[in-house]
Amino acid sequence: MREERRPPETEAREVAPGVIRVQLPMNMPGLGHVNCYAIEDAEGIALIDPGVPSSRSWKALKQRLGDAGLPLRRVHTVVVTHSHPDHYGAAQRIRALTGADVVTHENFKTYWDPHEEDDFVREVAVPADYDAQSGAIENALMRLTSRERHSPWDRPVPWGGPPPDNQWKERFRWRILPLLLSKLWQPPRPSRRVLDGATIMLGNREWQSVHTPGHTADHLCLLDPDEGIFVSGDHLLPTITPHISGLTAQDAPLNDFLLSLERMHTFDMVKVVLPAHGLEFHDLPGRSTEIIDHHRDRLQTLTEAAANVPENELTVPEYSKYLFKPRSWGPMADSETFAHLEYLRQQGQATARSVEGELRYRITG
Ligand SMILES: [Zn+2]
Ligand SMILES: [Zn+2]
Repeated sequence: MREERRPPETEAREVAPGVIRVQLPMNMPGLGHVNCYAIEDAEGIALIDPGVPSSRSWKALKQRLGDAGLPLRRVHTVVVTHSHPDHYGAAQRIRALTGADVVTHENFKTYWDPHEEDDFVREVAVPADYDAQSGAIENALMRLTSRERHSPWDRPVPWGGPPPDNQWKERFRWRILPLLLSKLWQPPRPSRRVLDGATIMLGNREWQSVHTPGHTADHLCLLDPDEGIFVSGDHLLPTITPHISGLTAQDAPLNDFLLSLERMHTFDMVKVVLPAHGLEFHDLPGRSTEIIDHHRDRLQTLTEAAANVPENELTVPEYSKYLFKPRSWGPMADSETFAHLEYLRQQGQATARSVEGELRYRITG
């Protein structure tokens, strides 16, 4: 079993100087727990990613912190690495309880947040020489980033073709909705939004915020350069790679992700990496290179697939079948495939045209 999938450990553990890991229960495909990191100082406790909004997770958080002599009521800061519910779930509840600061990246935005103004919506640039042929993508992305933000699956997908079947949508909904409808769920309202390079005091030490867009536009890692500790969120996980969605407000999610990974090579002071799922590891540049190579291989697979079909041209769901095993086929796989095809298009290695409402990508290499 992959380590990200294992059920949570019940005991808190010091995984880096002054950093205590508490594993919290969750159940999403491929993920059996989420790591919450606690750092104590004279004023109280800072937590990073306090788990999903379920009563089971809340109980586990209280119990395990309490057992480690870190009572929840002493929490003064919650850092949320990114806008996925397994990371922000309990943040607002802790803020309500203790008045803790909630720290996120400047771009932090959840799909389901009914309260915040849409301050994060990024305009999708439409070029002056706007061409109706290639406009399909920009139009769809604009719809995606427009005000009616529910879930990315409640509107037509940018690559066209038949909408995701209801059975799949239902499955997606039932996986996510129980979390969001739980009495415990409150959308996080960050009290401090930071940009890349901000200083965040945790445990009387200066940590730097490292913006790592890719998995989400608002993904934030934390670096303690003196102790060589890097909190990686979902940006780098020990044995699996994070989902790269083509349905985001980022113009180029895969390119952003690859650049965020390449940047890891500049942090040569890092001795230990603390991921949001799975165990700590030590080789930050090595793991970054592995994940970059994984995506380069996938781009190569798409290129080879195109080379073997008439016109070197396929639809997004057709390409998706070359990248994913049958059990993963469906809109999420298509979305990640779309991110890869758009990367090739933006690099000038592919073109897209709309045929009967569906995009067909030709990879020219
Ligand atoms: Zn995530
Ligand atoms: Zn996660």
